[in-house]
Amino acid sequence: MEQFASLPQKYRLVRSEPGRERSIVELDDCNVAFGGEALVVCAGPCSVESEAQIDETAQAVVKSGATVLRGGAFKPRSSPYTFQGLGESALEMLRAAADRLGVAVVTEVLDVRHVEMVAQYADMLQIGARNMQNFSLLREVGESGKPVLLKRGLAATVDEWLMAAEYIVLAGNERVVLCERGVRSFDSATRNLLDLAVIPLLRQLTHLPVIVDPSHGTGIAALVEPMALAALAAGADGLLVEVHPQPHTAASDGAQSLRPAEFAHLMQSLPELARLVGRSLPSGAFLTV
Ligand code: PEP
Ligand code: MN
Repeated sequence: MEQFASLPQKYRLVRSEPGRERSIVELDDCNVAFGGEALVVCAGPCSVESEAQIDETAQAVVKSGATVLRGGAFKPRSSPYTFQGLGESALEMLRAAADRLGVAVVTEVLDVRHVEMVAQYADMLQIGARNMQNFSLLREVGESGKPVLLKRGLAATVDEWLMAAEYIVLAGNERVVLCERGVRSFDSATRNLLDLAVIPLLRQLTHLPVIVDPSHGTGIAALVEPMALAALAAGADGLLVEVHPQPHTAASDGAQSLRPAEFAHLMQSLPELARLVGRSLPSGAFLTV
């Protein structure tokens, strides 16, 4: 108890303080704000595979109401022999697809040497689970000034995760959004153990917005919608969801990727839930579903 009570003292910059409002993290030049009343849904394929694939996926997710397009250009793969991402050409495709539809882009930056380049294409830089404690990378994205989506490490404690956020803010960048994506557990029945208790806990400990990634959190497409809804019921500020037009052909993470129709189904159930938890959806979303 004593240890718990002393935790917030360590996060000088990211801890919540009496009287301090929760942070709203806005992306530049696009109408996206994490942590406000409106929930933010980021969606797209695990990896950008081709222009046709990212265009088709982008159209589908935006039509259903996503306002941030995701897609990996640099992939952190466990094996060096699997698909590593298309690199800068994927960033070009992602940016072009998002611009055609008027939405924002979030994509992972794996390496300090790529921060400047990725920042030229993206509205938000994703720090993946495997890099959550890459302190040089945290400092570098902090100095870049671009909004950062900081995923929880594979086996990171809340303390370590908040300290990682502290590195980014200390480097001068206050625009940090936390993303719970599950942690390793003893049980391989799901890919990771999606920790939803962490959402109300983080709302006590930090002023930073928190979103949830039920795709990596479960690894199983059929579990994504129920866990997405549970995350929002628990107070998450938004979602990160993997969507692929033909999941069985995906270069990475096909088993957890929703088909466009499944994603549309999830999105259609959001307005009612949002109302129940006192939230809304961005204006303009769902117009064409
Ligand atoms: C991803 O978002 O595709 C990804 C690699 O996620 P994580 O870092 O959470 O494994
Ligand atoms: Mn993935």
